[in-house]
Amino acid sequence: MALVKCPECSNEVSDSAQSCPKCGFPITQAENTEAPAESKEVYDKAAEQKKTSKGCLTFLGVIVGIILIIVIVAMCSSGGGGGSSDNSRAFVLAQSAVREQLRAPSTAEFASMRDSTITSTGNTYTVKSYVDAENAFGAKIRTAFTVRVELVSKETYRILSVDIE
Ligand SMILES: [Zn+2]
Repeated sequence: MALVKCPECSNEVSDSAQSCPKCGFPITQAENTEAPAESKEVYDKAAEQKKTSKGCLTFLGVIVGIILIIVIVAMCSSGGGGGSSDNSRAFVLAQSAVREQLRAPSTAEFASMRDSTITSTGNTYTVKSYVDAENAFGAKIRTAFTVRVELVSKETYRILSVDIE
């Protein structure tokens, strides 16, 4: 227990007293509410700072996520978009070029694009694949082929070579 000076009338009052007995100025109450209020303010500030930094992190996370998605989409469209459609066009053209040279084209079963190798230099595509088709004796045999096709434009193309084993 200690004596404090009443801020109102400077009378010495016990700090356990609720108010100054002389002027009625609230003593303990004032000190009690003042201290927690201050620490509460500090706590609030800390909480606010935590909240803001957490908010910043979330925001950063969202931004990084969006950038990642954009990069992935860009990679997909540049790597697999136009390139793969040209690849499949070359692949289909190569197949039809080979089909023309088969004895029994109706029996032809071409390998899928996955089982084929398609390389390109500029507009020239080299398709290495195989076809299962009946030969002159009606036996189904696998024939490997390499076709080079030049995609001149969207409408026109040129078969440069058809090599059938
Ligand atoms: Zn007083």
